[in-house]
Formats: sequence, structure tokens, C-alpha cells
Amino acid sequence: MSRWRFETRAIHDGQPPDPTTGAVMTPIYQTSTYAQSEPAVHKGYDYSRTANPTRTALETCLASLEEGTYGLAFASGMAAITTIAYLLNPGDRVLAPDDVYGGTYRLLVQILQRYGIASSFVDMTDLTRVESAMAARPRLVLLETPTNPYLKILDIARIAELAHVHDALVVVDNTFASPYFQQPLALGADVVVHSTTKYLGGHSDVVGGAVVTNSKEIHETLKFHQNAAGAIPGPFDCWVVLRGVKTLGVRMDRHAANALAVAQFLRGHRAISRVWYPGLPDHPGHDVARQQMKGFGGMVSCLLKGGGRAARAVAAATRVFILAESLGGVESLLDHPASMTHSSLEGSPLQVDEGLLRLSVGIEHAQDLLDDLAQALDRAS
Ligand SMILES: *Cc1c(COP(=O)(O)O)cnc(C)c1O
Repeated sequence: MSRWRFETRAIHDGQPPDPTTGAVMTPIYQTSTYAQSEPAVHKGYDYSRTANPTRTALETCLASLEEGTYGLAFASGMAAITTIAYLLNPGDRVLAPDDVYGGTYRLLVQILQRYGIASSFVDMTDLTRVESAMAARPRLVLLETPTNPYLKILDIARIAELAHVHDALVVVDNTFASPYFQQPLALGADVVVHSTTKYLGGHSDVVGGAVVTNSKEIHETLKFHQNAAGAIPGPFDCWVVLRGVKTLGVRMDRHAANALAVAQFLRGHRAISRVWYPGLPDHPGHDVARQQMKGFGGMVSCLLKGGGRAARAVAAATRVFILAESLGGVESLLDHPASMTHSSLEGSPLQVDEGLLRLSVGIEHAQDLLDDLAQALDRAS
């Protein structure tokens, strides 16, 4: 890890000027293979599934931002999580939150189960439930915080402690907070995973994933499986994420400021019955969030008094907020989880209210966001 602070590391770590040309920006090494001077003698790169210099730059930068030693970049967040699943063997068990990301739920239930890996899902805000679930001896405890779409806050340090008593591996999906607001390795996690598609990329223009760990053994096993199975990102996509990461700090500060303004506005609105934002003092996870996060993020969820009909009407009436899946871009997005992101969670323990809207609050001018929500709520009620 370098001597610099977060914002400086985001711009410089892994990205010194190109030694051959002086290019200030990391080149896109659009090559599949590398010249060797003698058989098996090369400059550290032989084939781009195994390694590529643009990818190395991104991996070094992301490891630094998570205060970790080793980084690996993947083709998507799900490719990263799938590769972590290769650490498991038939007979192993996974413990996850009951509102784990839908794609992760699908991987655990529809794919890993066929390979003899069972999963249990509990409300991890309740530490006594986590503790009793540890009796089934999960090999891997996977957590997300804040969660999606109810933005529950899980106590990473306490859950990691409980899991480590039973020698379980603790993996934290840090996609919603980003390393600018939360650094799970410092709180006791063994592995951090990201969908870089979201805040790290930050501009809704790339799909990618990443894993960071301090364990050489875990890193080497993951790297072996990544190379063997092939879930790698291309050099251009790595460059796009690297470019996004440079502005992560300023973007996250604005996302959080705007999200707080939106949450406060929605809470005071007559058409809304409930607002979830970890930065509101009455959010059930506010105290834990204050301890383990440097900021409360850019995601806000709210419940419409008029139920599903009202939620759909608001979703169709916004002009600045774009109705779309995903999150973490500079533009504000609106999601109706019951019919969009959470519609395919058949058999999931998570019940999503029809009247729920999830907002990925962007970095536009806050007043334009509030005006847009005001006109959409007026038209819908
Ligand atoms: C989007 C997302 C993923 C999956 O990432 P992809 O890049 O879409 O494969 C995993 N976890 C969380 C929390 C996400 O939001």
C-alpha cells in the first residue's frame, strides 16, 4: 500500500506514466499475446487470459483502495462471485443475508446447489440469528451492506467475529458502499467483492467485477481458477473502470449529499409512508453505519402510500430520474423492484412490497432531483 490518501491513490496507484512513452494515461494494451525472447522467457506477460497490463493497473489500484494486498479484476460482478464459489467443495454450505443480491441468490440456489453446495439465508441484522445459523457450520459467510433494496446495515466486524469462531471465510460484497465509504478488510472480512459496474465504474458504461484480499493463499487460488475458467475483463473495459475510479471520492461525496436531500424530501412528502436511507437518524442501522462507514451512500428506497399503482405511476412520470435497472452511475435512476430487479426471485425469502421504489441518486443538481420527484409524486397521487 502506498503512502498516499484515498483520493490520490485512486488517481495514481497502479497507474504511473507509461515507462516507454511517458503517456500519462494507462495504455489500453489491446493484445492477446506477448513476444518471448526465448521459450518461456518474457516480461511477466505471456497470454492475456492469464494477465494483461491494463488489467494489472486496475487490480493494483482496486487493491489499494480497499486497503488490501491483492486485487483481481473480472468480467462482471457475478463472474467475481462465481470464482469465489470455486473455493467451495461439495458438502460445503454458504450463509447469506435473506436479501442478498438477486443474481447471487440465483447462483447459490439454482447453480451451486446442483454441485452439492447448500445455502441458508437469514436476517443478518439479528446477530443471534447469525450465531445460531453458524451451528450448521457454513464454510463461507457472504454479506452485503447496505443491502438491496431495503438498505439494511449489517455489522461487518461482529459478523466476521462470529464466523471466524467457526473458521468460516467471510466475504463482503462492497458494491453499494464502495471502498470510499467502507473498507471491509479492515473490519475483519477475508475477501471483498465488487460489481465495478456500479459506483467504481460510475458512469453506467461498463460491466465488471473485482475481488480484493490480504490472503496470498486465497488470491492465488482465485487467480488459478480465474485463469482456468476464464472470467476475465477485456483491456478496454479495465481502462473504462480505471478512468471511473479516478473520480470515485468526489462522486461519492455528491451521491451521498444528494441522497440525504432526497431522503429528507421524501420523508416529508404526504404520498410516502416510509423512507429507507442509512443516513437518517431513525434508520434501524444508523448507529452501525456511523461506525463502519465514512458516508451513507447514494441509494434511497421509499414506500408509496398508494401501493403498486402509485409506485408505477411515479416511475413513469419522472424526467430526470430514468426508469432503469442497475445503480451507481452519475445519472439518477429509479427502479420498481417488484416488477424489475426483484421480479425473478422465485422462492426467495425476500418479499418486496409492490409500493416500493428504489432510487440510485445521481450527482445532478439536488434541486432538480427534488423538483422532478415533486412533480412525479403530484401527478401520481
Ligand atoms: C450488480 C450487483 C452484482 C452483480 O454484478 P454484475 O456486474 O451485474 O455481474 C453483485 N452484487 C451487487 C450488490 C450488485 O449490485
